[in-house]
Order: sequence, then C-alpha cells, then structure tokens
Amino acid sequence: MKPHWRDDFPLIVERGDVAYLDNAATTQKPQRVLEAVRDYYRCTNANVHRAAHRLSDDATRAFEAARQTVAQRINARTAKEVVWTRGTTEAINLVAAAYAPLVLGEGDEVLVTELEHHSNIVPWQLACARYGATLRAVSVLPSGELDMADFQAKLREHTKIVAVGHVSNALGTVNDLETIIALAKAVGAAVVVDGAQAMAHFDVDVQALGCDFYAFSGHKMYAPTGIGALYGREEMLQAMPPWQTGGEMIERVRIEATTYAALPFKFEAGTPNIAGAIGLAAAVDYLNDIDFAAAQVHEADVLAYATASLQQVEGLSIVGTAPHKGPVLSFVMDDAHPHDVGTLLDQQGVAVRTGHHCAMPLMDRLGIPGTVRASFSLYNDRDDVNRMVAAVRKAGTMLVA
Ligand code: PMP
Repeated sequence: MKPHWRDDFPLIVERGDVAYLDNAATTQKPQRVLEAVRDYYRCTNANVHRAAHRLSDDATRAFEAARQTVAQRINARTAKEVVWTRGTTEAINLVAAAYAPLVLGEGDEVLVTELEHHSNIVPWQLACARYGATLRAVSVLPSGELDMADFQAKLREHTKIVAVGHVSNALGTVNDLETIIALAKAVGAAVVVDGAQAMAHFDVDVQALGCDFYAFSGHKMYAPTGIGALYGREEMLQAMPPWQTGGEMIERVRIEATTYAALPFKFEAGTPNIAGAIGLAAAVDYLNDIDFAAAQVHEADVLAYATASLQQVEGLSIVGTAPHKGPVLSFVMDDAHPHDVGTLLDQQGVAVRTGHHCAMPLMDRLGIPGTVRASFSLYNDRDDVNRMVAAVRKAGTMLVA
C-alpha cells in the first residue's frame, strides 16, 4: 500500500514517472508549504520590523510566529536562540565567523570528523588559518561509524570547538551525539552540530542534547530553499559579536559608533527571507501534525527493504553499514563509475545522487571516488525501491556489455 503521506506532495503525485530518491539533496514540498508561501505573498507581503502600517505588522507577526514554531520543534529555551540563515552552510559560517574568534588562538584546535560535509570542514579550515589554530579530524571506520577511540585520543584541553554532523549525508550514519557532547564538554569544548540530515527524520531536542549550536536547512525538511536556522545557546549568542552588518541588526547608528540590536536580530542583517521562514514554519506544522513516529517506522522499513534488495545484486557493495542509520543508502558497483550508474538509473526514471556528496575526505578515507546514493523520505515506498533495484540490475548488464 502506498504511504498516505504521498498525497500531501503534489510533485510526487504528479510526477509518477520519477522515483525520487534524492531526498538528502533536497526534499519535495507538501501542499500546505506551497500554500503558506503563496498566501503570504498574496495576502501579507510587506517588509518586517520596520513600517508603521498594518501589513507590515501582519508580516512581522507571521515571521516571528514562524521563529517560535521552529524554536518549539527543537525545544530551544526561547525563540531568541533561533537565528534565521540561508541554511546549514550559512549557519556554520556564522559560528565560524563570530564564535571562533572568541576562543581560538595559537595552539588551539578544532575537531571535526572525516564524515563531515564540506560545509562543516571548510569554514573551520579558514577560521583555524585566521587564528593560528589547527584543524584535526576524527577517523571513520570501514562501517562508516566514527572511530570513538580516535575521537577520545584527539580530544584534549586545546580542543576549543567540536564540529560534528548528526546524520551523515553520504552514508546515513547517525552519530552518537550524546557521548560526543559529553566527552567534548568534559574538556570544555563548544559543540556545533550539523543537523542538515536529521531534522526531517528524527526528533531533535537541543536542550536534551546539550549542544551549543545546531545548524539546519529548511529545504531538507520539506520547506523552501534559501531558509534555515542556527540554534545557539543564548549565552553563547550574547557573547558573540555580529558577523554580517547593515540594516536590521542595529539599535542606534552614529557615524562614530553603532550599538547592536538584541538577539536574535543582531545576527540578521538585511531584509530576511520572510516567505521562506513562513514556509519553514508550515513544514514544521506538517511534521507536528502527521504521525511522525509512524513515518519514522515507514522510512526505516524502506531503508531495510532497499538494503536487503541491493545486497542480492551481484557486483554491488553497500557503503556504510552502521547499525544506526538515517534513510540513506550508498553503494558502488564493480567496474562501474558511480556517474555512469546514475545516468543509467536516470534514463529509467530513478533519481539518485552520484559522486562524492560534498564529502571528499570521507571518499578519500574509503578509497573510492564516490558512490551512488539513494536517500528516502516518508513519501517513498517499496515500489520505488523495486524500480531502483530493477534499474540497477539493468544498468549492471549494460555496463558489463
Ligand atoms: N551538511 C550536510 C550533512 C548536508 O547534507 C548538507 C546539504 N547537502 C549541508 C550541510 C549543506 O546544506 P545547505 O546546502 O542547505 O546549506
């Protein structure tokens, strides 16, 4: 039986010709998100926080209510701890630009992992270069799990920041954040979590996790592109200087000096993505209203079914076999470049991602140029998997021939 959530996604219904298995890159949008964005532009559009007119008040109220909705979803203590960004990349860059200078100096270290997306590596490389610190990376085991002994060995009093993904976009590995955060806290390091791949599939409670920062993107959790958020613990955000500057983030500007707006506006220079924030709140409302636990069970079933099915295909190896995974399935085929496999799947109406998945250090560690990656969502089902497996088998024969 088709999962009933399918009906909520117009593109999935209308594009039945495609088995969309590229959800780790971006998800499709439910009808209510499309409507929220459209209705905002049709009925409420105005700039926020500024004008003395009713439309602007309405837009501001909707925009700030969206922040509240997101704060509640992640259990932030207050909406002040939610800073709008363009997405995960910008959120991590914000921390690297505004927090790193407070703590990094000569001899200090930032600890990332070999599992990370480039957007949780490159900002730290730049910050380390700027402040004389060193970037180190925790090794990954062949299963795609972090080598926790290596993590403990590399974690020391000079480690000022630990930056780690919640769920790997390339392999699906779910990291043991509880242990990682406890160990990092024991040496006094701040913890930045890249939650890009977690928000659509798991309940995230930033207070229970105890992380200092948590970054995520709307478009990977059924919301529009160009909007995301950084959760930061209030005292951390208070201590940090602004990063981008201009309008919206000020309290009083004189030519001689400027005072800054209160949280979270201090970090939100310029006109924000108002429609995006409203769309993100609509996506959160959607996740709050569905039976999220049932969706998780369904996604786990699709992942398990896909794993078992692909294991039957000769010459195919699954990459990433951690016991706890998000709905991501990476694989390679003997004597075939992932791009060629991806092209042949596309010709058969199966949309997957191929390549290094913005995780080149991980591919280097695994000794492969890339993988073919199928990533699932609540609207995928066993039929999509069957289509993929048939297409993979056919691609196998074509590539050998
Ligand atoms: N981190 C991870 C784990 C990701 O999967 C992605 C997106 N592929 C990003 C960061 C970057 O997200 P965005 O491009 O939305 O900023």
